[in-house]
Amino acid sequence: MQRFPSARDAALALRPDRPVYAFDRRALVEDARAFLDAFRGSTAYAVKTNGEPFVLEALAEAGVSAFDVASPAEFAAARAAAPEAALYYMHPVKAQSDIRLALEGYGVRAIAIDHEDEVAKILRVVRALDLAPEDFTLFVRLATKGHAAYELSKKFGAAPAHAVELVRRIDRIGFRVGLTFHVGSQVEDLESYERAIATAAWVKGRAGVPIAALDVGGGFPARYGHDRKRPATPAPAVGALIARVQDEVDAWGLGDLPLIAEPGRVIVARCLTVVVRVLLKKGQRLYINDGIWSSLSDSWTGKITLPARLIPDPARRRSRRAAAPKLAPFRVCGATCDSVDILSRPFWLPDDVDTGDWIEIGHIGAYSLALRTRFNGFYPDDFVAVDAAFEEGEGQEGYATLESRAGG
Ligand SMILES: *Cc1c(COP(=O)(O)O)cnc(C)c1O
Repeated sequence: MQRFPSARDAALALRPDRPVYAFDRRALVEDARAFLDAFRGSTAYAVKTNGEPFVLEALAEAGVSAFDVASPAEFAAARAAAPEAALYYMHPVKAQSDIRLALEGYGVRAIAIDHEDEVAKILRVVRALDLAPEDFTLFVRLATKGHAAYELSKKFGAAPAHAVELVRRIDRIGFRVGLTFHVGSQVEDLESYERAIATAAWVKGRAGVPIAALDVGGGFPARYGHDRKRPATPAPAVGALIARVQDEVDAWGLGDLPLIAEPGRVIVARCLTVVVRVLLKKGQRLYINDGIWSSLSDSWTGKITLPARLIPDPARRRSRRAAAPKLAPFRVCGATCDSVDILSRPFWLPDDVDTGDWIEIGHIGAYSLALRTRFNGFYPDDFVAVDAAFEEGEGQEGYATLESRAGG
């Protein structure tokens, strides 16, 4: 990666027509260490959030020694970056052949399930490979209810009474039993964790068998930008939220269990910025070289406000202004020919933005690289290294609201 002091310097030097991702490794290491320091258990980074090799390698160097993986490609990526790391296979629904690969090829010994047929699949592989069930921890994924920006319990998790049956079944077979939940993503309220921990305590009490570990999942909120006209409600500091989650674990009598967490977003959000270019300004519309099929997919970032900043093209002559430009809302159209590739919410940028300028969008490290597509032949994949995170940059700060398909 070519190196620049900041994303702005990269934009002005390279004058890129394609989106450029600016990676601040120091910010990644800082945010990873902050989590590792605050959490008393084992931190298993959720690879799906951002599985780029340079990210995984930096995390391994920062001291992350476990990874939450869901597919053969994620097993390989985590293993390549951190040969000694433990892999937690936490997807509740898996192909039989992938289970075999995990156990045989990658030495996976921690696996999530939320149904008895999944237990049967794992047992088949364990027997075929002549492995000992007691070397495995099967984590029963609990269904939870909460207010996460993305609620995942609609898809996975066993209801409490079913979880009790699963726990007993797993124990009877001779596997070690873990409990796990994942309350969603960008969870800003403690109550979602509280309820899930209470469910875990209830299941443990009812099942009456030894529990080997509690995995509290991911969902810890990253800091994003905010609408300056609204009162700022910054996400709780991660250390404070972790401390309160741990207090809840203790309060529910689970404090003796080894803990695991699977953070994604909170660790990687801040370390990447994307510099996009305004290809055309048409009134209050900006056509840019990125969009919902590239870095600005709504499916994970839909309720998130990203910090954004204009990088005016110095080659363009600007009418002299007395006052600083005001922030104004611009409708943003993405790079593809697809008519849904329009963000339904505006970017707020200085009103003198024009064709040829760049926009630096911060805190894009979680889920945007992972969700890029090759639609229409656009696939941003250019990276530079920088020594400053978005918030250290200069210039008036605007913000980008991204929700594109869900509406309003
Ligand atoms: C996606 C996912 C995570 C990571 O979630 P974040 O909100 O990015 O922290 C952790 N665990 C599981 C099971 C997941 O599916």
